[in-house]
Amino acid sequence: GKIEPDKQVESVCPYCGVGCLLTYNVKDNQILYANGRNGPSNQSRLCVKGRYGFDYVHHADRLTKPLIRREGKPKTTEILSQDQLDEYFREATWDEALTFAAAGLKKIRDDIGPQALAGFGSAKGSNEEAYLFQKLVRTGFHTNNVDHCTRLCHASSVAAMLETIGSGSVSNQVKDVAEAEVMIIIGARPTVNHPVAATFMKNAAQNGKKLIVMDPYRSEIARHATYSLQFNADTDVPLLNAMMYTIIEEGLQNDDYIRNYTEGYEELKQNVMDYPPEKVAPITGIPAETIREVARTYATAKGSMIFWGMGISQHVHGTDNARCLIALALLTGQVGRPGTGLHPLRGQNNVQGASDVGLIPMVYPDYQKVDDPEVQAKFEKLWNTKLDPKPGLTVVEIMTAVHEGKLNGMYIMGENPAMSDPNLSHARQALADLDHLVVQDIFFTETAGFADVILPASAFPEKTGTFTNTDRRVQLGRQAIDPPGDARQDLWIIQQLANHLGLDWTYESVSDVFEEMRLATPSIAGMTWERLNAEDSLTYPLEKEGDPGSPVIFQDGFPTKSERARFVPAGYVHAAEMPDPEFPFIFTTGRQLEHWHTGSMTRHATVLDAIEPEAVANIHPEDMKALDIKPGSNVVIESRRGQVTAKARADAGMARKSVFMAFCYNEAAANLLTNEALDPFGKIPEFKYCAIRIRPE
Ligand code: SF4
Repeated sequence: GKIEPDKQVESVCPYCGVGCLLTYNVKDNQILYANGRNGPSNQSRLCVKGRYGFDYVHHADRLTKPLIRREGKPKTTEILSQDQLDEYFREATWDEALTFAAAGLKKIRDDIGPQALAGFGSAKGSNEEAYLFQKLVRTGFHTNNVDHCTRLCHASSVAAMLETIGSGSVSNQVKDVAEAEVMIIIGARPTVNHPVAATFMKNAAQNGKKLIVMDPYRSEIARHATYSLQFNADTDVPLLNAMMYTIIEEGLQNDDYIRNYTEGYEELKQNVMDYPPEKVAPITGIPAETIREVARTYATAKGSMIFWGMGISQHVHGTDNARCLIALALLTGQVGRPGTGLHPLRGQNNVQGASDVGLIPMVYPDYQKVDDPEVQAKFEKLWNTKLDPKPGLTVVEIMTAVHEGKLNGMYIMGENPAMSDPNLSHARQALADLDHLVVQDIFFTETAGFADVILPASAFPEKTGTFTNTDRRVQLGRQAIDPPGDARQDLWIIQQLANHLGLDWTYESVSDVFEEMRLATPSIAGMTWERLNAEDSLTYPLEKEGDPGSPVIFQDGFPTKSERARFVPAGYVHAAEMPDPEFPFIFTTGRQLEHWHTGSMTRHATVLDAIEPEAVANIHPEDMKALDIKPGSNVVIESRRGQVTAKARADAGMARKSVFMAFCYNEAAANLLTNEALDPFGKIPEFKYCAIRIRPE
């Protein structure tokens, strides 16, 4: 007969930034199934990951004991498999593991100096975990070398937003598509990466809203588009400048808005005058008249929204790309009202929150700069300690510092840089070179194989905490089951490590941490734990208790010094590595619908792994014909940095002479090929463009 759950627990989906609310149906500490709940971002909808992606928590490979590396087992760049775990690691008690973890970190801190240590926190953790993690690095390690995967995701978008509009979060929520007349989706594949948000976008298109999709890849959502611009990769800046050229040439700019709310218009105007659509058409592959029509459509609508993703941000010109999108919105006054605005679609379910609460090397919670003496004094008082006034290193800079012999110890919680960093050979060598590495995770990840000590942590349904979705909604995830074996909740582990490092922390519950986090983070200062428990989802800014929250921001000015937004002109810059006769194809990476980031959760989820069990390379069918590659056959893909073998998949959405791979397959790690060249402002690597060659195996 049917097994009936004995409890139902209301929580949040652990995967993407859409932040769908769901219910776990539990019996005997096992999740039987998940249902969508009527949350503000999903209205009971779930995608395949939210509905079927939970049984990784019960997988036999979960880490259940603290582990210490066996003596005489040196670290190499080789990736260890689950089968090698016992050969390389031995079980330890929590006390032994924590003492060992802390001693190694302390020794480096005291003998070499605090700057020889770093921490990678995670957007997979709750706000409370992210807050405590960055506090531990800043007050226990005494360095600001703390970062997380936002660096690989929207760091360039945030750099552009902070510089232009003074805030790194979205101006309007996804649900506003119902009030917009026009939606631009650029450099994003929401049906794959934000599937439930995509359903609202498609519903809006069906209700007569105009959808403009701009992407070198013709994705599924383009079928719903009024205009689908499959422009040449790497030409975002000329394309967007040409739209602005048209708007100014035809007098469609919003002069009142520009006068009242912005500065720097003349410089912008001068810059875009170099980009008439006729000149840009051959560069972008989009006819001049189409560029003009799209520009007019966007500018003249009552409300136009822009959504963007990693296709914009993961370039050496990622910040420039975002500057252009922001300028386009400001130029036409498409900001500050329902159905307008700027929405960088956040990837992980808590990448917004982890950034908001300070898991970033240059800012404390709420983007307060570490090198501002007033801010520093405030945090020294709150945390009752001296703080380092120097901004810390970012993710890729940390790996470079290891290679240079300047960084020797790390604490990594829930991140998997041995799969997620660009140019993996380089990153894996850095992990192998560390004198002391503490990894906290739920599985024996590729990164855990490089550890000196592994701390078994808890999965989403095993703990309570808040998560902030792409819409600035802070939402409560509730514990549904207990962690397996001796695995522990992450907050407990962070606090224990802090205590072993000599900090006298005494948080007794998640809400204790939440209360302190409110004090450190003005934009959520008015949220109370009781109200979160009652309402499940609150939108910030919510500065005073009882405030309703602010779904639309920038209604009357911007949080900059001058209270105005700034136009920042951008010129055309090429990718760091262009195709050439030796490496004639372009390589780009991303995710698949079924798999999540490095696959540490979804490749342990039965249904998801069954749908997409192995690495594939998406290639245009005509290119496959020309290269004599049969669908389903193995292809070898090489860049200057590495080589992988994967199954060829014909995909007519691909641009010619380009290959796409998801980065979750350790047997064919796409990031062995990618280029670690950085955007100079956001320090984000160029995952979306490098040169490769491809051949049948
Ligand atoms: Fe989870 Fe995102 Fe799917 Fe919603 S859309 S169920 S948040 S993965």
